[in-house]
Amino acid sequence: MTENTNLTHAECQARATTVAVRTYRVELDLAGAPDPSVPTFRSRSTITFTAENDATWVDLIAERVVSATLNDAPLDVSAYDGARLPVTGLAAENELVVEADCVYSRSGEGLHRFTDPVDDQTYLYTHFEPTDARRLFANFEQPDLKARFTFVVTAPADWEILSGQPEVSRTTSGSTATVTFAETPPLSTYITAIAAGPYFRAEDTWRTTRADGSTQEIALGAFCRRSMAEHFHAEEIFTVTQQGLSFFDREFGYPYPWGKYDQIYVPEYNLGAMENPGLVTFTETYLHRGTATLDQQERRSNTTMHEMAHMWFGDLVTPRWWDGLWLKESFADLMGYDVNVAATEYKNAWTTFACGRKAWAYRQDQLPTTHPVVATIDDLEAARQNFDGITYAKGASALKQLMAYVGREAFFAGSREYFATHAYGSTELDDLLVCLERASGRDLKEWSQVWLETAGISELTPEVEHDGEGRITRLTIVQSATDPLTGEDVARPHRLVVGLYELVGDELRPARSIELDVTDGRTEVPDAVGVPGALVVVNDEDLTYAKVRLDEVSLAVAREHLSSLESNLTRALVWSSLWNATRDALLPASAFLDIVHAQAGTERDAALLAIVLEQARGAIVRYLPEGERAAAGARLVDTTRAGLRAAAPGSDAQQTWAKYLAHATGLSGSGLDDVRGLLDGSAVPEGLTVDADLRWECWQGLAAQDAATLAELDAALAADDTMTGRTAYLLARASRPAAEAKDEAWERATTDGQVTNDQLRSLVHGFNHPSGSPDPSYADRYFEALTEWWRTHTMTMAGILVAGLYPGGALAAGQEPERHPVVLQAQEWLDGHADAPKALRRIVVESLDDHLRALRAQRKAPVQQPAA
Ligand SMILES: [Zn+2]
Repeated sequence: MTENTNLTHAECQARATTVAVRTYRVELDLAGAPDPSVPTFRSRSTITFTAENDATWVDLIAERVVSATLNDAPLDVSAYDGARLPVTGLAAENELVVEADCVYSRSGEGLHRFTDPVDDQTYLYTHFEPTDARRLFANFEQPDLKARFTFVVTAPADWEILSGQPEVSRTTSGSTATVTFAETPPLSTYITAIAAGPYFRAEDTWRTTRADGSTQEIALGAFCRRSMAEHFHAEEIFTVTQQGLSFFDREFGYPYPWGKYDQIYVPEYNLGAMENPGLVTFTETYLHRGTATLDQQERRSNTTMHEMAHMWFGDLVTPRWWDGLWLKESFADLMGYDVNVAATEYKNAWTTFACGRKAWAYRQDQLPTTHPVVATIDDLEAARQNFDGITYAKGASALKQLMAYVGREAFFAGSREYFATHAYGSTELDDLLVCLERASGRDLKEWSQVWLETAGISELTPEVEHDGEGRITRLTIVQSATDPLTGEDVARPHRLVVGLYELVGDELRPARSIELDVTDGRTEVPDAVGVPGALVVVNDEDLTYAKVRLDEVSLAVAREHLSSLESNLTRALVWSSLWNATRDALLPASAFLDIVHAQAGTERDAALLAIVLEQARGAIVRYLPEGERAAAGARLVDTTRAGLRAAAPGSDAQQTWAKYLAHATGLSGSGLDDVRGLLDGSAVPEGLTVDADLRWECWQGLAAQDAATLAELDAALAADDTMTGRTAYLLARASRPAAEAKDEAWERATTDGQVTNDQLRSLVHGFNHPSGSPDPSYADRYFEALTEWWRTHTMTMAGILVAGLYPGGALAAGQEPERHPVVLQAQEWLDGHADAPKALRRIVVESLDDHLRALRAQRKAPVQQPAA
């Protein structure tokens, strides 16, 4: 059966002009789910809709269509092609019934089925965005055809059976129950949801009494696998949930519209979370089997707020098509940080945004595949790939700048009008801009044009002149910004803050903070004249989105004194600037690493420390010449060992150092004894808990150095035979540098159809662990297999293979980056496969570009040294 699973914008637009959907009744029989030998479930979809022409189609990805009737007459299903069922003979009012056998998924798309190795229990959950509801039931799979849904689910009677709405009735027959849920308000298909399984349940309530005397009460549920219940801190989840609901209730001025609010943590999830109204799904990696650091708790809280913002922005008001994806994602992403700071204990959230989240955007925005925040999305494959650093992190950065530009009050006032005007409807960019313009009194057309409809990053470079005593005599901010897609200059307006710091003894102290608008190519900052300027931080406070450079004096000062800056956010911004310079081959990787070794030991923010240590590892394995990597790995072991010894007992920093000591050991044998000491308990610093997850980090470090036997890894698995343990075991096993280990990982990743999404990630990461160098013949096999992988796997699984197994490789002495054999092979493949699916080409183009960037940094490395 050939599947045409793609859908184009043009055909969906056309369908929406002829069809209006009223209701769906979706009946699912999941009683057979606990038996892993049962591959499918029965799905019956009853759709009522109006039509203005004779023919349309419904979307359905099923093993087979059992039967279909249109207005009580049998419908010919022989034309079903695996993705679409043509429907002809339409009346003005229609009732279509489609019965099908659909497949339990192992890839996280559609209805995912998971069997817990700990207790053999079966868990089901759905994930649909953008278009996998059609793997559960026949439907019109496009976001603007909203309808009211009634879900009816049959499953084992002792299970939790959940959907976005509350249960309204239940009948039991033997060991199975059939549960009917309340009809939903109008929804898009991609945010419908069900879950079923013996989930552990916790409950609480959110209540409010508003200034106008109105009240609201919402039942809260929190769920996880039973075997994770001991690690489930539901009270923390409820606290943050209640703080968020109070914030959004007040700021959005529109009562929470979905009845109940359940949050379920599920295994083998492909992304952070999904905003299904009333039943939000989260990846289980947000649950920690040891002590969660403040940083980890902050990230979970961030995602909680992100999804909650979607209850309004995305669910209540929905982008008409996937080119509006950014409209909901940028907004929700911004809210994740903003509400953490405004309503929870996580006051430091902007630090991780500045240094971590934005690094994602900067990387993506410099790839050849970059695009404006407002992108043209012609079809679904393109839509799937735009869940990227532009749509989320750059979009959120642009909205943060917009908030600074129009003011926070106007920003929320405009949002309130947007929800009031468009509730349960579909929108485009202009609908939001109109509301923000009215609230702020500003014309936002031009702002939107240069910020949202162009691509690329503005680069802001300070030109600083000093007098003999280090006072600034002239400060100019130079903006250069070219849209890489059009080649045109784009001078964006930046509302920003310039921070000037003076050196007092060994400490950097704030001297002055200047808020101004940078609009042109060159902007003078007269207020800086006469102020000490040992360190000049353009975009202090991180209001705008730009690649900010350090002047030579500031770079030299940062090298020695970065950690003495009191503000976490300012330190994060300086680190971000250093990392960007490293990636751009302006700062040699060795110089970046020097700064890490000198400054990380006194970094006080554990979240920032983790980001910097991760970047240090990246600098070694990507940007440093190959010949320097072993020594650099050993030095990172020294730094992490020293950090671990010096860290306060029981602190987040202590846990972070321990984790990165294990990572560094994967790059250098000099840490083997330290890691062994953590594992056998002989060298565990006071206050450090070597929990199951840290143990696996240690085993992975040892395995990558070929310093763990298979028998030891097997024993580690026997001691932790859980889902997480099995996934970690695969990573350790595949990280072994021996040729047999690479062969085994490759075979399993590319031929074993039973491998899950998470297991596949482990296999490919292990295969390409920097400690090993797989045989060059794998590069040939990779380029030969690409189109076949794409054809035979779901997009998620194919994406993991194509991105994860890209061969890479370091620069040889005297070699030009463009002449690297893998670069040539990749280019040859692209030239020879102009007709390959765009989404596949995009991954190859991006992998090639990352590779070239790394090779160029390796070549540049010894040439430049930073000013002393
Ligand atoms: Zn989102």
